[in-house]
Amino acid sequence: MKAIMFGPPGAGKGTYASRLKQKLGVETIATGDIFRELIKEDPELGRKVRDYVEKGLLVPHEVVVEVLKQRLSKIPEGKGFILDGYPRTLEQAKALEAVTKIDVILLLDVPDWLIIERLSSRRICRNCGAVYNTRFLKPKVDGVCDKCGGSLYQRSDDNPEVIKKRLQVYEEQTKPLLKYFEEKKVPFVVSKTTSLDQPPEPIVDKMIEELKRRKFA
Ligand SMILES: [Zn+2]
Repeated sequence: MKAIMFGPPGAGKGTYASRLKQKLGVETIATGDIFRELIKEDPELGRKVRDYVEKGLLVPHEVVVEVLKQRLSKIPEGKGFILDGYPRTLEQAKALEAVTKIDVILLLDVPDWLIIERLSSRRICRNCGAVYNTRFLKPKVDGVCDKCGGSLYQRSDDNPEVIKKRLQVYEEQTKPLLKYFEEKKVPFVVSKTTSLDQPPEPIVDKMIEELKRRKFA
């Protein structure tokens, strides 16, 4: 299964991708994670990337393609993958087609109000990357990670202003992609979220059921 997971920022793409990874044994490729690693490890390229990320803008095409090509080349022959957070533009989708074939689109349908609510209360562990939420997934001790005791921080792009900008970018640049893949007759599996406290498990199970039914898993 070679899949792309689509959905607005904060739709839970990472959460769903990691659960599908566990249950289906596929690899997940998140450009967001690759960028964050890059910012830590490669000061020069990292600084360029960070400027874009912090402003809620897209990282330049050539940089992403380079990073992605490297990552895809490390996947063993015959193993499936889920791309999370890429492609985001038509230009990127076409570049991706030149690198690999895509079997299925996993689409997360989440309303804007829910995204803004969820992201502006998100906190992340500086040490292990665990994700919390100050409203419905609180750590036991304020500002401290349950798993490792690390300190929690708010990503600089997780504030309402930047979130709205990111949703706007998604709307303008990513949504035409769905049309593009539709026209290419790539099948879609759509998962809808309607409330803030909806647990991911039933949604993941339904996704897998649908993927199996269509022989992708
Ligand atoms: Zn932690």
